[in-house]
Amino acid sequence: MGRVTVFTLGGTISARGGDASRMTGAEVLAGLGLIDVEVELRDFRRLPSSSLSFEDLAALAHEVRETVAAGSGVVVVQGTDTLEETAFLLDLLCVTSEPIVVTGAMRRPDLPGADGPANLAAAIAVAAGPGCRDLGVLVVLADEIHAARLARKTHTTSVTTFASPGSGPLGTVVEGEPRILLRPTGTSAIHPLRFDPAVRVALITLTAGDRGELLEAVDSRFDGLVVAAFGAGHVPTWLVEPLAALADRIPVVLASRTGAGATLSRTYRGPGSESDLLHRGLVPAGPLDPAKARLLLHALLSSGAKGPAGYDRPGITAAFAHLNGTGLA
Ligand code: ASP
Repeated sequence: MGRVTVFTLGGTISARGGDASRMTGAEVLAGLGLIDVEVELRDFRRLPSSSLSFEDLAALAHEVRETVAAGSGVVVVQGTDTLEETAFLLDLLCVTSEPIVVTGAMRRPDLPGADGPANLAAAIAVAAGPGCRDLGVLVVLADEIHAARLARKTHTTSVTTFASPGSGPLGTVVEGEPRILLRPTGTSAIHPLRFDPAVRVALITLTAGDRGELLEAVDSRFDGLVVAAFGAGHVPTWLVEPLAALADRIPVVLASRTGAGATLSRTYRGPGSESDLLHRGLVPAGPLDPAKARLLLHALLSSGAKGPAGYDRPGITAAFAHLNGTGLA
């Protein structure tokens, strides 16, 4: 019998009735029925996931690290709205062999077909599963097991909202048993990272006809910027100079707003192309979506990638390249 610590943070799985209150962790666990795993509960927060702060997530990462160090698998139960960000952040901050699984629900517990208990049972089975060690942090919903670095919420209401665009799930849960079909390469972080909630990283999504007013607003309050650019990493010609000026001062990561696939580096040339922007000092996000790129940059900046002499562009570039599947770091 495995041992699993369940951290409940609120979210739809606990949103009986849909008002602002959330059920206790014990009430959420009570929906499970009998299972063959020793479960310890940490009633951690009772919030909609949109209201989880960086301070909440830093405190969660701290407790999860201590829990896995004591030899327990972990399940984090939270709202699905920001679930992929919590999962990826834990993946960067909690490097361990123990399974860490993040789950939630799409249907409130009082609605027909509520998916919370099934997701929670599957997540606990994965967290207790010896075959689920050394996979990094996992996202488990709808009996699918996804790698945190790849998982995204892709639908506002579907119970199969979580997907890993461009790769697919690592495995499934069948008859309550985890089955791993694929294993991710390495860990998401080159080395264990820290997370300082005081660091500020902006994320700006470009839109057609963008005049760059939001870029102008990236002033000294921000330590870094992620640009969710068009296609494989393209911006209007008139935004090249402002972005290059920002990249002289703070790290600017070039991501894609498309939702799947990697940024390019040498297919298009000329002003505003990906090769132009990389030449001007931007850092390629590779396959990381903009929200995850923001968290990686945040963690790198919290872990010494900036100092009085500026920022460590080669180190930041290597940390992103580590995840691009080429084996380069
Ligand atoms: N889906 C929301 C969340 O992510 C539901 C809620 O407000 O509890 O938490």
